[in-house]
Amino acid sequence: MSSSESQSSQQGRHQEVGHKSLLQSDALYQYMLETSVFPREPECMKELREITAKHPWNIMTTSADEGQFLNMLLKLINAKNTMEIGVYTGYSLLATALALPDDGRILAMDINRENYELGLPVIEKAGVAHKIDFREGPALPVLDLLLEDEKKQGSFDFVFVDADKDNYLNYHKRLLELVKVGGVIAYDNTLWNGSVVAPPDAPLRKYVRYYRDFVLHLNRALAADPRIEICQLPVGDGVTLCRRIK
Ligand code: SAM
Ligand code: CA
Repeated sequence: MSSSESQSSQQGRHQEVGHKSLLQSDALYQYMLETSVFPREPECMKELREITAKHPWNIMTTSADEGQFLNMLLKLINAKNTMEIGVYTGYSLLATALALPDDGRILAMDINRENYELGLPVIEKAGVAHKIDFREGPALPVLDLLLEDEKKQGSFDFVFVDADKDNYLNYHKRLLELVKVGGVIAYDNTLWNGSVVAPPDAPLRKYVRYYRDFVLHLNRALAADPRIEICQLPVGDGVTLCRRIK
């Protein structure tokens, strides 16, 4: 194989749906993982990552580098009261739980309890399960219920949104009232496997194509929202941090 052929086949692989990085090459991503991420990954996170890798929907998990990023971010902002929408087997949840102080809280929501329970023994063994309040079911009604309680308004330091992309703007409307001024909402997958810049006739997988318009709409709406400051990072599949300023 010539070097240009090998480069283009690498690019092809790199752009496969589910790849956990948007960096310019697999080699660069691998370098980052091997140099800075895996050597510092807590044993429990490694164990959960390996359990998740055997699950048929493992494409949904948060990558190790994004887990490390979330953990660092939560410590930097001294987060204590947090929320997660979209738990799956709990990799980002564990990254969050490990970052919070012992009396920190995570209201964690997912329509699927079974996957959460796959990771739960690892979370329990890590000694952080007491920080988690898991609610099975769709997140939107939980948010509506929270909003009815005046004490919950403006009470969250951090929210990680990693669930149904077609509801992100519905979440946003509610989360802006639930997160405190100065608090952060992180929306995951905002570069949607690079499909945000794919030409209209690009051969995209069905679900990528379906959610793409919602992600495009979300990105425009966040960029135009005067109630927040934003920063979109090419970590994982793209994560947009929104800091509430009003
Ligand atoms: N953050 C997870 C991790 O680190 O592994 C990955 C979450 S996965 C990408 C998306 C999750 O959102 C799935 O587990 C799915 O069951 C959940 N989900 C989908 N629709 C939902 C909804 N309406 N409310 C709550 N969770 C939902
Ligand atoms: Ca995600």
